[in-house]
Amino acid sequence: MPTQLAVVHYALEPQAVELREVPVAVIEAEDVLLEVGAVSVCGSDVHQFSNTQSWQVNVPVVLGHEFCGTVASAGRSVRGLREGDRVVSETAAGICGTCGMCRTGRYQLCPSRLGFGYGVDGAMTRFVRVPARCLHPIPDALPFDLACLAEPHAVAFNAMCVNSTIRPGDAVVVLGPGPIGLLCARMAALAGAQPLIVAGLSADAARLATARQLGATRVVDVDAEDLDAAVRDRSPLGADLVCDATGASAALDVALRLVRPDGQVTKVGWSPEVHAADLNPLVLKNVRLQGTFSHNFPVWERVVHLLTERLTMPEAIVGLRAPLTDWREAFDAMHDRRVIKSVLLPLS
Ligand SMILES: [Zn+2]
Ligand SMILES: [Zn+2]
Repeated sequence: MPTQLAVVHYALEPQAVELREVPVAVIEAEDVLLEVGAVSVCGSDVHQFSNTQSWQVNVPVVLGHEFCGTVASAGRSVRGLREGDRVVSETAAGICGTCGMCRTGRYQLCPSRLGFGYGVDGAMTRFVRVPARCLHPIPDALPFDLACLAEPHAVAFNAMCVNSTIRPGDAVVVLGPGPIGLLCARMAALAGAQPLIVAGLSADAARLATARQLGATRVVDVDAEDLDAAVRDRSPLGADLVCDATGASAALDVALRLVRPDGQVTKVGWSPEVHAADLNPLVLKNVRLQGTFSHNFPVWERVVHLLTERLTMPEAIVGLRAPLTDWREAFDAMHDRRVIKSVLLPLS
């Protein structure tokens, strides 16, 4: 049986990730065997490395859910995809196909959903097995090291442009300038947010500088500045929309304080810690609190377009490109906030 090197999360304890030789997957009739062109490292991969994730992991599992590549072979029932096609992959590797969510195109919310990199083997390796329904063709003009960012783009687009309403001139605040927060800020900028305020910690200085590049009209270091004052200075009633993209549950209190009456709070960041929030402002201010999770087909088609046209400035996000064998440095660089995104290139 042919084998390949893979970044494997092998136990539910801190630092239980290593490079291992694993068998190359065998595909079924409706699958494609994808040769991975690029796979970006997600904050969630770094969480799994530290064993601080908020989700169940089927160890041992190959990490990596943000990926693209070339079709190496296609199962006999696959239509519309051929060997050599360049594609990006969605993340819902397993869905039931029959529940109310699946039947209405909201399969990302299927209770049986299993994602790459925690539920089934992911793409931090050379070949990955992917159900053909997950794949979207990409044009030659979109290189693999940017196309792999389609997944976090899809998270941000779904959060800001599907699950939130932004009209030109809306005051938008994004809490947390991690990769998802920055992409949420970029989507808000594209949707016409003005002012667009991005808030982070002193340790986020470089990320806040990137937020400026991506269209933030004001960035706030909450360790040194008064965020409430910065928001009310430009929008006295509060923000039309506050996006919580932090991994800290206590940020919900801040969001509920900053949002204007009849405004919206969209929560995309999450954490295993349970936090007792005071929800009275939600009632008192008539606020809509919206959770947002994952993404589906129309979101992916749109972000492939945005990436191809470089409307989201994806180059500003990628700070490190490395071969698979340097996975640890790629993870550490993100964990230590030296780069926003690391991209692994299994063919290099
Ligand atoms: Zn991700
Ligand atoms: Zn389902």
